[in-house]
Amino acid sequence: MNDQISFFEQVNRNFDRAAIFTKHPPTLLEQIKKCNCIYQVAFPLRRDDGSFEVINAWRAEHSHHKLPTKGGIRYSMGVNADEVEALAALMTYKCAVVDVPFGGAKGGIRIDRTAYSDGELERITRRFTFELAKKGFIGPGIDVPAPDFGTGAREMAWIVDTYQQIHHDELNAIACVTGKPVPLGGIRGREEATGLGVYYGIREACEIAEEMQALGLEPGVGGKRVVVQGLGNVGSHAARFLANEGGAKIIAVAEHDGGIFDEGGLAIDELVAHRAETGSILGFPGAQALPTTEGALELDCDILVPAALENVITKANQDRVKARIIAEAANGPVTSQASELLQDRGTLIIPDTYLNAGGVTVSYFEWLKNLSHVRFGRLEKRFDEHAFRRVLTAVEGATERAFPSHMLEVLAKGADERDLVYSGLEETMVVAFQGLREIQKRHGGRPDLRAAAFISAIDKIIAAYESRGIFP
Ligand code: NAD
Repeated sequence: MNDQISFFEQVNRNFDRAAIFTKHPPTLLEQIKKCNCIYQVAFPLRRDDGSFEVINAWRAEHSHHKLPTKGGIRYSMGVNADEVEALAALMTYKCAVVDVPFGGAKGGIRIDRTAYSDGELERITRRFTFELAKKGFIGPGIDVPAPDFGTGAREMAWIVDTYQQIHHDELNAIACVTGKPVPLGGIRGREEATGLGVYYGIREACEIAEEMQALGLEPGVGGKRVVVQGLGNVGSHAARFLANEGGAKIIAVAEHDGGIFDEGGLAIDELVAHRAETGSILGFPGAQALPTTEGALELDCDILVPAALENVITKANQDRVKARIIAEAANGPVTSQASELLQDRGTLIIPDTYLNAGGVTVSYFEWLKNLSHVRFGRLEKRFDEHAFRRVLTAVEGATERAFPSHMLEVLAKGADERDLVYSGLEETMVVAFQGLREIQKRHGGRPDLRAAAFISAIDKIIAAYESRGIFP
């Protein structure tokens, strides 16, 4: 708990701040806020040394207004009922903001994953999947988990394998979880999707000249000085795209064991490789060590990207945060009270409910791929390439000039799965951002981006209930 109120209360407080801009009946708003159901389970783990341990785990399904519900599974010592309910609620709102037709869910196991062997982690994951299946908390049309803090494609592979052992005759069993390895029904582009979506979202926000002017910044991502907290899945890919595609300068990175700084800009690909090799970002050649890991949040920079955990910017440290833009790549990194204080001071916050929706967007594409049992691009790629070549040949004939072969290759390329995923993700993030701006304009600029995201979600959820006659 931080800033006196729990994480779920903070999400609800953000909801309430937005709800005042809507005219929906209070009881309906109350219903939307509630977590529809939560399953708590304890099971034994036999450790490698033969001893036993009790493992505690949760799965919350926040809203069944659309099915299946969707949300990650995290392995962290911070997991508890309040946290999964809060994160499940954020998933509901996030899916609505980016028009992904799922309700929100979240799960977690309270473990420090570094304290367990691979074999132990596999036994924990498989047992949790079995417990979820027993109670109807997993299934392609029921509830579909994904990776989150402390989990990745490997854990998702164990989940799908366990589910398929139980439901061996279910045609769409492979769609019971997303974020799987590609040979097991995963989709190209899922791994980097959340970080890429973070980049697209920041890019859209930085394009608005008057907003940037108000912050004393030039429009565009190029040249912006960026600090990233957490170099895991989301943080590393966000940093990579911000630097390599957007031309931003990543001046500092913080991890659980310390932070590093380089005003000239850290080479992110090399830093990720350095961490993979040594186990730490510390000791990266040419970078300066920061005195504390938390200190990174307080560095003078244009964009701060908290991409580790929730509640890292609170009432206690918000007044020391100097970033002009805070891009919430993690879920709930800024408490609701800190958020209000920062925005009062003029800081632009790009909210998690929009910004990190790239993961669930591409999870949606993966789920669609699994249900259709065909890779995106398989049917049309060659057809498109042949059609492009016919056009290019006609142009060559008409102009009597041949395209250089390297140009021909680029111009005649049909879209493969990754191209289509990136394109669908970009479209989703751009359209959703335009939607938030329209909501802001409709309300005379009074709601901030977080409130606009909640208004967007509330309106869409109510519309979904109403269309089924549930809220007449
Ligand atoms: P991850 O486990 O891959 O990475 C988290 C990183 O944060 C790790 O490198 C960890 O060492 C680091 N970290 C932990 N404590 C820290 C601290 N005190 N200071 C600095 N760094 C610290 O997890 P992830 O999947 O990248 O998720 C990160 C955040 O993004 C979470 O809030 C998660 O809910 C959210 N998120 C993830 C996805 C996704 O697709 N993975 C999607 C949406 C939101």
